[in-house]
Amino acid sequence: MKFAIFTKIDKDVSDVEKLVKEACTKYGLSLDNDNPDFVFVLGGDGTFLRAVHHYLDKNEQVKFIGIRCGTLGFFYQFEVGDIEKAVELVAKNNYFDESHRLIECKLGNQTIYSVNEIRFENPFHTLVCNVKLDGRELETFHGNGLLVCSELGSTAYNKSVGGAVISHNLDLLQLTEISTIQNNIYRSLGSSIVLKSETKITFSGDFSNVVIGYDHLTCQPDGAKEIEVTGSNKKIHIVYSKDYSSINNLKRSFIK
Ligand code: NAD
Repeated sequence: MKFAIFTKIDKDVSDVEKLVKEACTKYGLSLDNDNPDFVFVLGGDGTFLRAVHHYLDKNEQVKFIGIRCGTLGFFYQFEVGDIEKAVELVAKNNYFDESHRLIECKLGNQTIYSVNEIRFENPFHTLVCNVKLDGRELETFHGNGLLVCSELGSTAYNKSVGGAVISHNLDLLQLTEISTIQNNIYRSLGSSIVLKSETKITFSGDFSNVVIGYDHLTCQPDGAKEIEVTGSNKKIHIVYSKDYSSINNLKRSFIK
C-alpha cells in the first residue's frame, strides 16, 4: 500500500509529517507522493480542498484521510494524537470509505469540478440570470449571484448565505441565492432548493462581469452565455473509522 502526505502551505507541520511517516513505516506503507492509494492531509479545510484538486485525475484510486492540525476541519475526524489509530485503520483495511460525488460545471469548452460548491457572483452590478432545472424554466434571478453546493459544501459558503445544512449521508445538490432582489418587479424563489444530484441546472445570461468560484479556486466565464451544473460521476473517497458520525463535526465546528 502506498501513501502520500499533503500539507498546509502556510504553516510548518513537519513534526506531524514525521509522526505520520513513522507510523506508516511501522505498518508497512510505502511513500509515493505521485501515485498513492491513501493521502494523509495535514491541515484544515482549505488544505483538504487543495489536496482533492491536486489528485483530481486519480480520484477513483485515492482515499483521503484528514489529520486536523490546529484549525477548523470539517472534513476531519482525526487529530494529531490519533495518527497511529488512523494509520492502523488503513493498514488493516478496517475503515469506512465515505464517497461523495463532486460537482461538475460546464462553461463553454471547459469542465471544472468542485467538492464544496460552484458559485458565481457579480458584486458590482445586478446579475440577471435565467435558471432552468432539467430543461424546465424555474425563474429569472436578479441579485448578486447563485451557488450550487454538495452535501459536503452545505456547511461552507452555502451556510453563510442562509442555505440549509445537508446530512453527509445524502447525495444531493442545493441551489442557493446570494443577495437576491425581491420586490414587485423582480421575484425569484427566495429560498434554497434541494435537488437530486443528477439534476441538470442551467444558468443563462450575461456573465461578462461575473467571477466563478469553485472551492478555493476561481475562473472567468470567458464569454460563455451558459453555465451548466450537475452532480458528477467522479467521486472522492474519505477514510473514517467505522463508528464515525459527521454530527460530531457539526457540533465541534459550529456549536461546541
Ligand atoms: P478557506 O480555506 O480560508 O475557507 C474559508 C472558511 O470556510 C474556513 O473557515 C473553512 O474552515 C470553511 N470551510 C471550507 N469548507 C468547508 C466545509 N465543507 N464545511 C464547513 N466549513 C468549510 O478559504 P478559501 O480557500 O478561499 O475557500 C474555500 C472555501 O471557503 C470555499 O469552498 C467556500 O465554501 C468557503 N468560503 C466561505 C465564505 C463565507 O462563508 N462567507 C466565503 C468565501 C469562501
